[in-house]
Amino acid sequence: MAKFQINILGCGSATPTPRHNPSCQVIDYRDNLFMIDCGEGSQSMMRRMKMNFTRLNHIFLSHMHGDHCLGLPGLLSTLSLHERTGKVTVHLPAEGVNIMKSITDFFCRESTFEIAFEPVTGDGGVVFDSPALEVRAFPLYHRVPCYGYIFREKAKLRHIKGDMVKFHNVPVSALHDIKCGADYVKHDGTVVPNAALTSDADPAMSYAYCSDTMFDERVAEAVRGVDVLYHESTYSSELAVQARQRGHSTAREAAEIARMAGARKLIIGHYSKRYTDVELLAREAREVFDVVIPAEEGLRVDLL
Ligand SMILES: [Zn+2]
Ligand SMILES: [Zn+2]
Repeated sequence: MAKFQINILGCGSATPTPRHNPSCQVIDYRDNLFMIDCGEGSQSMMRRMKMNFTRLNHIFLSHMHGDHCLGLPGLLSTLSLHERTGKVTVHLPAEGVNIMKSITDFFCRESTFEIAFEPVTGDGGVVFDSPALEVRAFPLYHRVPCYGYIFREKAKLRHIKGDMVKFHNVPVSALHDIKCGADYVKHDGTVVPNAALTSDADPAMSYAYCSDTMFDERVAEAVRGVDVLYHESTYSSELAVQARQRGHSTAREAAEIARMAGARKLIIGHYSKRYTDVELLAREAREVFDVVIPAEEGLRVDLL
């Protein structure tokens, strides 16, 4: 299986604490790094987790609250000092473009690489596209414009059965079509069915990131069928009213979204600093949904 790994760099809410950094995750897809949110401390965590800064080319910000974006100027400034080249693209809600651009114009004046800001607007849509992977933004329901991001692998090629390909003398030039599902037709017209030459492709995997948001069924609709879902779980159920008032969710509500979406696994995070033991939140979520992983700094989750 190709590498598709979620790395948790920060999973606290609002302010940094001795236990947690503010929100940041890095998706490692085949050694290309995609950062989602960039709270304070994100670049230190990248170092601690031994991530290669030169492989980071895309950063996605959910919204313009400090616990999701104040690490960005420092990170971009550090990249300048590394004399990196090429381009880093920051995808962010439109209201953040001018402020982030003026900060980086000031602090990265001697930057050796291009910093591009791509506004995410309206209902979101595709924000990154490659032959293997697509990233799509979708609206969340918070106090300011806020977006979730879903990473979807595209359909993969079938696996070639080497011994059978050799047995039927299939030329290399025919292999791509066969990996795509074609039969092989020999010179004498004999058809070798695809199933004789290949085995099933690995399943295409998907990951959705939802932070910050109040409980809303439209979120479940947006992430329907996702393999792994990260959903903020700022509070426990006893603070459900406060959660709604502040545009956040409880752990139980996060689990409801995972259940409604038909996800396979749920990662919870964005914990309020009042919780010294996040197992309380995980237990609450498990009353609704079976596979709940409480995020913690340094955690790596492979999509398998
Ligand atoms: Zn937040
Ligand atoms: Zn927020």
